[in-house]
Amino acid sequence: MTRFIFVTGGVVSSLGKGIAAASLASLLQARGYKVLLRKLEPYINVDPGTMNPFQHGEVFVTEDGAETDLDLGHYERFTGVNTTRFDAVSTGRIYSDVIAKERRGDYLGATVQVIPQITDAIKEAILKNTADVDVVICEIGGTVGDIEGLPFLEAIRQLRNDLGYRNTLFIHLTLIPYLPTVGELKTKPTQHSVQELQSKGIQPDILLCRSDRSIGVEERRKLALFCNIKPECVIEALDSQTIYRVPLNYHQHGLDQEVCRHFGLEAETSPDLSIWERMVEAITRPAASVTIGVVGKYTALVDAYKSIHESLIHGGIANHVHVQIDWIDACELEDDGQVAVIKRLSHVDGILVPGGFGERGTLGMIAAIQFAREKKIPFFGICFGMQLAVLETLRNVGHYKDASSSEFGPTSMPAVALMTEWMKGEEVQKYFSGKDLGGTMRLGAYECHLESDSFSSKAYKNTIISERHRHRYEVNTTYLDVLEECGLHVVGKMAKGLLPEVVERKDHPWFVGVQFHPEFKSRPFNPHPLFAAFIEASLTQNRLI
Ligand code: GLN
Repeated sequence: MTRFIFVTGGVVSSLGKGIAAASLASLLQARGYKVLLRKLEPYINVDPGTMNPFQHGEVFVTEDGAETDLDLGHYERFTGVNTTRFDAVSTGRIYSDVIAKERRGDYLGATVQVIPQITDAIKEAILKNTADVDVVICEIGGTVGDIEGLPFLEAIRQLRNDLGYRNTLFIHLTLIPYLPTVGELKTKPTQHSVQELQSKGIQPDILLCRSDRSIGVEERRKLALFCNIKPECVIEALDSQTIYRVPLNYHQHGLDQEVCRHFGLEAETSPDLSIWERMVEAITRPAASVTIGVVGKYTALVDAYKSIHESLIHGGIANHVHVQIDWIDACELEDDGQVAVIKRLSHVDGILVPGGFGERGTLGMIAAIQFAREKKIPFFGICFGMQLAVLETLRNVGHYKDASSSEFGPTSMPAVALMTEWMKGEEVQKYFSGKDLGGTMRLGAYECHLESDSFSSKAYKNTIISERHRHRYEVNTTYLDVLEECGLHVVGKMAKGLLPEVVERKDHPWFVGVQFHPEFKSRPFNPHPLFAAFIEASLTQNRLI
């Protein structure tokens, strides 16, 4: 029998519902249960692929090529289970499916309404492919009270009746703020948020209370009384030094015990949390420290580079070092050329240029790549970062000043160019300029073949790899000979095709650019080989200074 847990959020947004859901999943997994995490997104966009990273944070790409919310990244990192396109469901997706069905005549003349057609479609999406899973954890995006969230709340309310009380569980994540003027933790906002949920017919079973200090017996009693919850089901979720300590904290405060008790599973298992204990030990007691400069356009919002941030930390775990990340706005490096670059980058041990779109900030990123190349600082270019490494080499080593990307407008030397045709398995995929922007990039996992004497194959300990992609432009194979002459070698190519996937310099301690996004596959207990190798090279650099 599959059990379903629904996680809602109250009081304020950004309380970390994704990490809460992922942490609970990891605890249930540690008890031997098969878990699946799913995100329901009340926004109207079909997916976040076309959203500005400044507003929504990173777009996380699944193996099967869905562009999804960054919380799916937490799900994968905490459980090691790959998500799929069925694990991210938005209002936009539900409505477009329902409207397509209506156009086909599938509703046989019925008036199509929020209840039951939209709520049925949501329930179907929640239940899809869950038969062989022990526990499904479904996170509802947004905050209780948002108008877009209503059909989702109605659908999960109905599911409790459909599936039964003992097979469903409602967890409400909320904030208990501390008011310094009165020296008290305040429970009222949570009481109101639970009342809001109750008015929709949902009685939470567990309250997960975010707070910056311990919640006393009196507040707990009050919350239990006013919110109609057992006192032992009011669980504190204190701020944590590292997100990877959250599963241990939750276990200590009894979250997984209460969940199992509700489902009638408590006697069966006790969790083995030793991998989490070892990981937290590695993060909190590092042997040394390295500083990585990440030069990008969206550095003001760290969520825009969530997976890169986590992958760098994982690279640190692999090398037993603390990774200090210096987020550097590429535009700042554009003002006075290498003067600003030297000022901002001379203290770093490694430079990473992440993915991105559009011309703004690219001169700053190219200046940072030039600095890394000339000063022999380990360099890691990811997707856009790799394309810009190609332009940097052509412009500054080859003196082809016009070398550019067709993404930035017409150019006489399109060294990076729009890709209009590529293979996915045995099928030809085509893109026509002017086509929809949403969901039309080269997306998801593709195989790549590496040269055996490359930095990359040494890191992977393999020459055949598979990585996730999200891009529309491609290094133009017309200029590969010129690139070779300038010392930038293509050492990885797409299987069954010519598309360049990895570039490296042989005259440098570690200079690697990849067309794919390795950050989507890094896990804290299984750090990505390229991030581990990049941090190792940066550590060597640090010891040289
Ligand atoms: N803008 C580039 C492209 O579309 C790179 C995309 C990315 O970095 N994800 O090809």
